[in-house]
Amino acid sequence: MAQHKVTLIPGDGIGVETSAAMRRVVEASGVDIVWDVAPAGAACVETHGTPLPRETIESVRRTKVAIKGPVATPVGTGFRSVNVALRKELDLYACLRPVRSLPGAGGRYDDVDLVIVRENSEDLYAGVEFEEGSEGARRLIELCEEEGAGSIRPDSGISIKSISVTASERIVRHAFEYALERGRKKVTAAHKANIMKHSDGLFLRVARDVAKEYEGRVAFDERIMDACCMNLVMDPTQFDVIVFPNLYGDLASDLAAGLVGGLGLAPGANVGEEYAVFEAVHGSAPDIAGQNKANPTAQIMSAAMMLDHLGETDAAARIRRAVCAVYAEGAHLTGDIRRASGSAGAPATCTEFTEALVAAL
Ligand code: NAD
Repeated sequence: MAQHKVTLIPGDGIGVETSAAMRRVVEASGVDIVWDVAPAGAACVETHGTPLPRETIESVRRTKVAIKGPVATPVGTGFRSVNVALRKELDLYACLRPVRSLPGAGGRYDDVDLVIVRENSEDLYAGVEFEEGSEGARRLIELCEEEGAGSIRPDSGISIKSISVTASERIVRHAFEYALERGRKKVTAAHKANIMKHSDGLFLRVARDVAKEYEGRVAFDERIMDACCMNLVMDPTQFDVIVFPNLYGDLASDLAAGLVGGLGLAPGANVGEEYAVFEAVHGSAPDIAGQNKANPTAQIMSAAMMLDHLGETDAAARIRRAVCAVYAEGAHLTGDIRRASGSAGAPATCTEFTEALVAAL
């Protein structure tokens, strides 16, 4: 049996609990993994002077595969997002988020099976910003006036939205290749090209061009982002693979998670040519952190994606079957799922859920 080296970044808040649960389940599945536990997050600022220590990035460079818990990002101030920095450092340009109904999980639909492919490296998310009142903001406002690009109020803070041919082409191609590999039938590109002609317009133009290369093999359609949100809520079964620029993909991920029972269930992967970092969609959930209430399903399903990536497809399938069995049986569901499904009974703790899962493997 092959031995794998994987970097484990527990992260902040519930990440500590869900990472422990994930590790317990993966080890119980019989896969041989040597974990290189690496720090990141709020606590690191005190110990390492940075939320993303060099040694953590070096570890992922060595192992090439990581699974991480969420890392808290202060809103509006403080350090920049560790997640954004990690994606940039390792060129993890594609974010993959499969969204699937789990019977018994309280989703609004029983038959959702779609994949969100989110561009991970640019758009408003890249963090290129000018503070209100700064010299940079002043010069940029002046330039916009001079170029006749438009008028910006002098007391504005500015975040730049840039979308390139390079990044659009590789993410759309990634979506089509993913569809081909997994036998999926259609790729939808979501955009607001009607309003942002030079950024989303470019994304759409590139998507149409790339789609031509796959004609006859994978179907293509396009959706304006606001309509896409409504369509997702009203009939998510019309979608197969959806490719988004960064920010819309971020928003649609939580929206889609809400269709199938909530953030506790939504797994994900950030991948590039060389490295892959697997992580749940949810954040550090400070409201329930440290209380053994977190639902570890999202991180455990992220681990199943990781096992597929490592070639351990039997173990991944076994974990997915066990997750389905525990939800279908319904006796060990965490509080978030009890609320979403309106099911009676005391909520299981994170530990109880995990042990039920191990027993079902
Ligand atoms: P959140 O996802 O942490 O929580 C939103 C709500 O969902 C909360 O009520 C929470 O209790 C619940 N929830 C989330 N995951 C759950 C789980 N596994 N089980 C049960 N309930 C769950 O979003 P937030 O509160 O907006 O963000 C908190 C922090 O996390 C912020 O600092 C944010 O920047 C960070 N964050 C990190 C990542 C990441 O590291 N990938 C992603 C999103 C948010």
